[in-house]
Formats: sequence, C-alpha cells, structure tokens
Amino acid sequence: MTFKDLGIIEPILKALSQEGYTHPTPIQEQAIPILLGHKDLMGCAQTGTGKTAAFAIPILQHLYNNHQNNIRSNKIKALIVTPTRELAIQISDSFKTYGKYTGIKNNVIFGGVKQHAQTVALRQGVDILVATPGRLLDLMQQGFVNLAAIEYFVLDEADQMLDMGFIHDIKKIIAKLPSKRQSLFFSATMPTSIVDLSRKILGDFDKVTVKPEQATAEKVEQAVYFVSKKGKIKLLVHILETQAIKSTLVFSRTKHGANKIVKLLDRDGIKAAAIHGNKSQTARQKALENFKNGSINVLVATDIAARGIDIDELALVVNYDLPNIPETYVHRIGRTGRAKASGIAISFCDQEERAYLRDIEKLIRQKITVIDKHPFIDFKDENTERKDNSHKNKPQRNSSGTSHRNRNNNYKKRRGFNSKNKR
Ligand code: AMP
Repeated sequence: MTFKDLGIIEPILKALSQEGYTHPTPIQEQAIPILLGHKDLMGCAQTGTGKTAAFAIPILQHLYNNHQNNIRSNKIKALIVTPTRELAIQISDSFKTYGKYTGIKNNVIFGGVKQHAQTVALRQGVDILVATPGRLLDLMQQGFVNLAAIEYFVLDEADQMLDMGFIHDIKKIIAKLPSKRQSLFFSATMPTSIVDLSRKILGDFDKVTVKPEQATAEKVEQAVYFVSKKGKIKLLVHILETQAIKSTLVFSRTKHGANKIVKLLDRDGIKAAAIHGNKSQTARQKALENFKNGSINVLVATDIAARGIDIDELALVVNYDLPNIPETYVHRIGRTGRAKASGIAISFCDQEERAYLRDIEKLIRQKITVIDKHPFIDFKDENTERKDNSHKNKPQRNSSGTSHRNRNNNYKKRRGFNSKNKR
C-alpha cells in the first residue's frame, strides 16, 4: 500500500516523498480512507504511530480540493486542539511540511507567550488553526478567533487533556463549533471518561485502534534495572558515561525530581536540561533546540512536557521513575523507536515501584528483560531492604524458553553495558 493507492493528491504526495515517507503507517492506512470519505473518526493511538499525518493529510486534501473548486474564504476552517505547546508547534510544523505545495495556510496559538504576534497572524487569515485550549478560549473571548466556519475539528491527546484539567475548556470550545462538521478524536487510552467525552464530539464515527503493544514489543528494546532510590543517579551517570549515547531522554515523575536530576548530572560533568510545566516557554524551546542540535545530550522531562515531543534519532529513553499509570510507560518508550526506527528504553525500578512494573508488564503483555547485575545493585536505601529478590534466584522464562538472565547477558553484550561502547 502506498500513499498514491490511498488516493492522496499530487501536491501532498510530492511533499511526503520529499520527507522520505514511502509507505503509510498502520494508522494512516486505516484512518485516511475514513477521513477522505467524510466520516468522523475515533483514533485510539499514541504519538509515534504517525497519527499527525493520519489527520493532517486528509484535512489538507479536503481544503485543497475546496480551493480548487473556488470555495474559498478567509475564515478558519479546521481547528486542532492539543494539550501542550510543544505538541501544538509540532502539529503546525507537520501541516506546513505536508501542505507546502497546497497553498493552505496554518497557524499555531499557545499560552505562555505574548499574544500579539499570534493575533497579527490570525488577522491575516488562516485556513487551519492549531491551538492549546487556554489560549484558544482567551482569543475567542477577545474576538480574535471565530469558530463559526469550522468544517474539521480534531481533539488530540484527549486523555492527556482530561489529566491536565482541560475538560471545562474543551466543553466551552465544543459549544462554539458548528454542528455540521467532521470530527476527529484521538486518545491513547480509552477510559469511561474519555468515551463519554467522545460522545459529545463525534457523530457517526469509525474507530481505528493501533495497539500500544505493537509499538512497544516490536520496535523498542526494553530492559529494567532493579536499583535502590539512592542508587538511581549513580546508575544513570554510569550508563551515560559508559555509553556515549547521542541523545537520551530521561523521564521523571515530578518537576522537582527533573530539576534535581539535572543538578546531580551537572555535578558529575554531564550537561543536561529539564523541561516541565514550571519552565517558561522560552526555556523549554531553548532546551529542546539544544537537545535537537546536539549541544546537550540529555533532556530530563516530566510526562506532560515530553508528551509527543518529536525528536528524530532519539537513541535512548530512561524511565528514572517508573510511572504508576502503565499506559504512561507506553507513551514514554514511544518517544524512541518512532515510525520505522528501532529504539532502546531502560527503566530504573526501586523496591516501591515493583508493583508498577508488574502492571506495565501486564499491559504490554511481555516480561521486560531484567538487568540484575550492575555496579549499583547492592546500593541500599536507608530503611529499605530488598525483600523481593526472587527474580535473582529464579530466572524468569519467556515464551521462547530462554531465561531472562541469558537474554540480559546477550543484551548487555550487544549494548556493551559493562564496557566502553560508542554507538
Ligand atoms: P506522530 O505519531 O504523528 O508524532 O509521528 C511520529 C513520527 O513518524 C514523526 O517523526 C513523523 O515525521 C514520522 N512519520 C509519520 N508518518 C510517516 C510515514 N508514513 N513514514 C515515515 N515516517 C513517518
């Protein structure tokens, strides 16, 4: 299956081929025909699956065809609402990339910066608007944005929207949309609250699911280190120093934790930067740029700030803390191994996080390779004894019958965890 087979028009095909996209990803293959057929869509997919192009390409194609048929106006015709500034910028960039030969104009608005440049661009007229909820409502209330001509509405990362407390903003935005429209609803997870919200947005819809385990099991090499809370920083420094990895994204559960990791890495001479909600937009953008251009090799992020960050050739993801929500693990490791690339994700698991690990393994339906030999294995937290070390005495078996300890050794040999190794 090619993009041409999906009926994509020439100006978009040209842009896609320049980007090196030869074949649609599974979500694109499934979603594009539904969207070109004017149906609503519920997409159960995480970032990293190619979902941005899955919705951007059909929207661009519809708008381009309307332009060709002289159905033109200066009004906003497509609205994409997404939870974070980083995602908003990324989605807008994708529209620019895929739409560069279509003449369709898009613009992005988000909070945390002055609004003037955004309102100037809006006044000039845009076809597609990408927005975070707070700034969108603000500019609607000030009269800079009018949603009366919206034909396409995309709610992206719906579960994250709810986690971030955007539900009321979303409801206010939906209330201003024309009822005749095509709606697209994307969420990585589908708890009841999300299904309820989707009912308020979607009409007659088709559902497309790209299972998270496809992304994790098939593309990302995963391993877990059992290590005490206190030993984590030493282990991280050890891995970063011995691996010479070009780009490592470290996940911390809290903003405070992210700052602390950066400080401790700095103490050991490793340059890193943190991105999280307490950092200004400028600081976050700068950190991201420095990371992308290679002037820093380590970025430490909280889940919300890192959600959807698109970094080509991200070599390693480190779960410094294991997330208590298993789906978050899938999101995190999806940052590496994007599209067709393969990636590596390692997790640090202390005594208190064993239960989280079990939940994650249940969700992804696989045992994660345990690296139970490393220099900090016996580094004990005060008052915390490793009660559960049954994994050490009884190597777990996987479905192929090889023990995880053997696989660990192979993994370590391949990845050179005990030796200096440049990749
Ligand atoms: P997304 O899930 O939309 O964040 O996309 C993940 C990554 O996959 C981005 O870096 C895209 O540029 C890339 N991508 C999307 N579609 C394709 C495709 N059909 N072929 C190759 N790369 C793609």
